[in-house]
Amino acid sequence: MPRSKGGRGKPGRTPSRPSGRQLHTKVKTAKGRKKLSVRWLQRQLNDPYVVEAARHGYRSRAAWKLAQIDDRHRILKPGQRVIDLGAAPGGWTQVAVERARPADGGCVIAVDLVEMDPVPEAGTLTLDVHDEDSAARLTAALGGPADVLLSDMAAPATGHRGTDRVRAEGLCEIAHALAREVLAPGGALVMKAFHGGGEAALMTALKQDFARVRTAKPEASRADSAETYIIATGFRGTDSAP
Ligand code: SAM
Repeated sequence: MPRSKGGRGKPGRTPSRPSGRQLHTKVKTAKGRKKLSVRWLQRQLNDPYVVEAARHGYRSRAAWKLAQIDDRHRILKPGQRVIDLGAAPGGWTQVAVERARPADGGCVIAVDLVEMDPVPEAGTLTLDVHDEDSAARLTAALGGPADVLLSDMAAPATGHRGTDRVRAEGLCEIAHALAREVLAPGGALVMKAFHGGGEAALMTALKQDFARVRTAKPEASRADSAETYIIATGFRGTDSAP
């Protein structure tokens, strides 16, 4: 489990913001690289979230996003059963483990279509959420219904805007459908969606199943990214199914 070396925050819980120091690192191996690749590297080297993720032992900068969403909306609690969809390489899973504390009775299952190195204290399941038996496998791995379903799933970008949008919409619809099958009444869903990716229709659909539906753009989510996060709480249970 990542631990803060800075000594801030609660014990065993990494603070959800880097120290904020401005970084000015230059790419030393720019010669021979394409301009885009130099720009990408430059951004990575000077992104405090990337730098601090490594310092705190997080597997991805995405970990900060969940930490910030959770600090604000208080979704994750000790003892909960949590499923993390699109978990690789495991940053969100690390945050879920820190906060749901499997050692104190919680349970976290990391799910991805690619194999990932297990996160200590979390279970791992390799599956494609499109598989027909995915809901059954998720509940079996968890040993019962989930309190929280997380989804940071994203399909690899094709560069074709229409195709990428349709894929992103599809993953959100599947996350919603799985939430209906795996969540216990009162449960919560936190998922990544994209502006222009049908998020208005998705929110309307979610409102039928959840008492409260909000969006969040955590500070760690880059301002130039179309991603947004939907937080749906108070699952009404499957009786609300159409
Ligand atoms: N939350 C992760 C973290 O904190 O390290 C990063 C997730 S990454 C942005 C998106 C992940 O979604 C990828 O690992 C990808 O394999 C996964 N994914 C995409 N489509 C999927 C599918 N159909 N079923 C399961 N996982 C999927």
